[in-house]
Amino acid sequence: MSGLALLLVVGAAGLFFGLPRRLIAAVLALIWLAIVLLHLTSPQAGAMFGGSLRGWLFGGVLAVLVVAYRVGLGWLRRNAIAGQEPPQQAADTGLTDPELDRYARHLVLREIGGPGQMKLRQAKVLVVGAGGLGAPVCLYLAAAGVGRITVSDGDTVSVSNLQRQVIFQTRQRGEMKADAAAANMADLNPHVEITPVTRALTDTDLPLIAGHDLVLDGTDSFATRDLVNRLCVEAEVPLLSGSIAQWEGQVTLYDPARGAPCLACIFPEPPAPGLAPACAEAGVVGPLPGVIGSMMALEAIKHLTGAGQGLAGRLLLFDGLYGETRMIGISRRANCPVCGSALEATPKAT
Ligand SMILES: [Zn+2]
Repeated sequence: MSGLALLLVVGAAGLFFGLPRRLIAAVLALIWLAIVLLHLTSPQAGAMFGGSLRGWLFGGVLAVLVVAYRVGLGWLRRNAIAGQEPPQQAADTGLTDPELDRYARHLVLREIGGPGQMKLRQAKVLVVGAGGLGAPVCLYLAAAGVGRITVSDGDTVSVSNLQRQVIFQTRQRGEMKADAAAANMADLNPHVEITPVTRALTDTDLPLIAGHDLVLDGTDSFATRDLVNRLCVEAEVPLLSGSIAQWEGQVTLYDPARGAPCLACIFPEPPAPGLAPACAEAGVVGPLPGVIGSMMALEAIKHLTGAGQGLAGRLLLFDGLYGETRMIGISRRANCPVCGSALEATPKAT
């Protein structure tokens, strides 16, 4: 067999068996060296592999040049990619090294980046209800690095919650939902500050609402939703609201202080008894709160970072049974009992 054929067979076999490229190159270099040495020491033995000493030396130099060219090209390419990274991802983001590592997938998003991640870290968000919708909201907001999250819920974890409230573990049944959720959020991300509030909100909670940049409500009682809406309107804090029943859900951002309607503009009256039964009576498919709660978390991140177009003035409807989404425009009502102009015209008693 000629030396050239030997090199080709060895190289092809190495590639076929998936051996490391460096190993194949080292074996080929050894064979080449042996042939050159044979040519030098015993020209008759060297002639068995064909070619001349000059030919083999020329071939070796050519191979070294090709390898050097490829290595150099790879080095230039890596340096060019490193040079393209936006400067905001460097040390001037104000984020620590562990945070840069944790939020790397946010930092490369043009709409979030270092400045957006800092906005998330500085944000104060209140999540009302750690139930079906609250579970994904709490998990995703904690994971995303929303700096301060308050979770309020007056209920305890029951086994029938676990079919959809994925923030809880079976061993946590009987614990206060706010405490159990806070513990699991802290486990997920130690960089965020979680404050559990182990009771339902009341009409004296205006200071609590006013201390936050954004409120997310995923409770399933009209009385609570109405109360949270009133407090948010009064405190001028935007309210991201989600609701679910059986296979359907909806999400919107209520924010009358900035032109969007409030809950009472759209649903001025409580539903007739029996018309909108709670999940316990009507049932709810397990992943549905995951879909709607994740949308709420997504809209919260958009709202806090200023990315994209939010849901102010738009109500997103999702029908899980048919896999359809629909968007309808919603607007403020001048005679809304909560945010209407009649109310604004009346000076508040002091
Ligand atoms: Zn209103």
